[in-house]
Amino acid sequence: MKPFAQTWLSLGSNLGDRLDNLLAGAAFLLSHGLEWKNCSGVYETEPVGYTAQPDFLNMVIHGETRLSPLDLLEVCQQAEKALLRERTIRWGPRTLDVDILLIDDLVLDLPALTLPHPRMAERAFVLGPLGEMDPGLMEKWALPHITEGIRLRMPASDFRDRLSPKFI
Ligand code: AMP
Repeated sequence: MKPFAQTWLSLGSNLGDRLDNLLAGAAFLLSHGLEWKNCSGVYETEPVGYTAQPDFLNMVIHGETRLSPLDLLEVCQQAEKALLRERTIRWGPRTLDVDILLIDDLVLDLPALTLPHPRMAERAFVLGPLGEMDPGLMEKWALPHITEGIRLRMPASDFRDRLSPKFI
C-alpha cells in the first residue's frame, strides 16, 4: 500500500458562520482521504489583497494521506465547492478556501499545483498558525515568523473538541 504523506493545509472563511465553515471543511477533508494529526488554533485575520471585505477566520490542519498530490488538490477543491464558495472576486470573500501548503518534502511546479504553496512565506494568516503548531517546520523551510494583523480566537484544543470523534 502507498505510504502516508504528511500534509499541511490552510483553511480560511469570511462569509456566513465562519467557524462552522471551517468545521464543515475539516469534516469534509477527513471523510475524503485525510487522516487527522493536529491543528493550529483559529485566528481572526485581516483580508489580504482585496481588503474591502470582512475579516477571515484562518487555521492550519496537519494530516496524513495516501492520496496523490493532485487527488488531494481535487479533494480540497471539492471541499470548497461543497461549502458553496463564491469566486466572483479574486482574493474576495469566500465561504471556504483550502490551500495545500506542504506535502512532505515535495517541491512541485505543475500548472495546477505549486508546492510549497507559492505565497505562504508572505502570509501572516498562514505563518502564525503554522508557527504555533510546528516551529521545526518553520526552520526547515526558512519561513519568517510574521504575526501582524492576526489574533487567536480559539485554541486548537477547542476546535478539535468540536470535531466529530469519528475523525480523530
Ligand atoms: P485560489 O483561488 O487562490 O484558492 O487558487 C486556486 C488555484 O490555485 C487552483 O487553480 C489551483 O490549481 C492553484 N494552486 C496552485 N498551487 C496550489 C496549492 N499549493 N494549493 C491550492 N491551490 C493551488
